[in-house]
Amino acid sequence: LLSIDGVWKHFHGQSVLRGIDLEVNAHEVVSLIGASGSGKSTLLRCVNLLETVDDGVILLDGQDITDPRADVDDVRKRIGIVFQSFNLFPHMTVLDNITLAPRQVHRVAKAQAQEQAHELLARFGLQGKARAYPDQLSGGQQQRVAIIRALATQPRLMLLDEVTSALDPQLVVEVLTIIRELKDSGMTMILTTHEMGFCRDISDTVCFLDGGVLVEKGPPEQLFEAPEHPRTREFLRSVV
Ligand code: ATP
Ligand code: MG
Repeated sequence: LLSIDGVWKHFHGQSVLRGIDLEVNAHEVVSLIGASGSGKSTLLRCVNLLETVDDGVILLDGQDITDPRADVDDVRKRIGIVFQSFNLFPHMTVLDNITLAPRQVHRVAKAQAQEQAHELLARFGLQGKARAYPDQLSGGQQQRVAIIRALATQPRLMLLDEVTSALDPQLVVEVLTIIRELKDSGMTMILTTHEMGFCRDISDTVCFLDGGVLVEKGPPEQLFEAPEHPRTREFLRSVV
């Protein structure tokens, strides 16, 4: 579904991604782990075309989305992204937050967009919150709305960047439950996380990044229990 091939990214002469190669298959959940500054968020931002790559290509369903002629809006329709800070529009209700992209980008009729939004809210335990404003919701509820908003355009791929990091511990679980449900429904996802237990539990493939290099990847059992690379071992020792 997604193929990242030899991707490099520099900021001010510093290499932040150094030749990243990664294949993501349909229905697969891939986690990116690594120290702060290792390039996890930058890689997700490159996939969503929030950053341009300096070298290499990214293919989505076989289409080179890093080609300057690629239609950025069209690519973003197919890739949902959710950040650590929920980035909801504060002056808009939950319903308007969720229906904005389907209506404006996809030209879905208002009634249909709202019906779909209500379905998603019900599916994720937020029925009754459609008319609320973001500041009337808990952090966990806001993050669930942010995930629903990303789902509303029916993306092929979801990118989740530290989506639980800003939450109080008791609110983390409700967001993790959603991600689990998305996996069970077959959604393809790339996520970054500092929660190793969750990462291990949900991932099909775990990638360890170090200084912009994808040092090692494999199924969670292998990466966590028998890491091959000394840098991976060192990192895992530092986080447990
Ligand atoms: P964290 O775990 O803290 O979220 P990360 O692995 O997501 O870290 P990135 O945010 O991808 O790391 O950052 C990788 C490097 O790129 C860092 O050194 C960061 O300072 C740098 N960087 C990221 N975005 C920019 C930018 N827009 N301009 C300049 N440097 C940047
Ligand atoms: Mg980050």
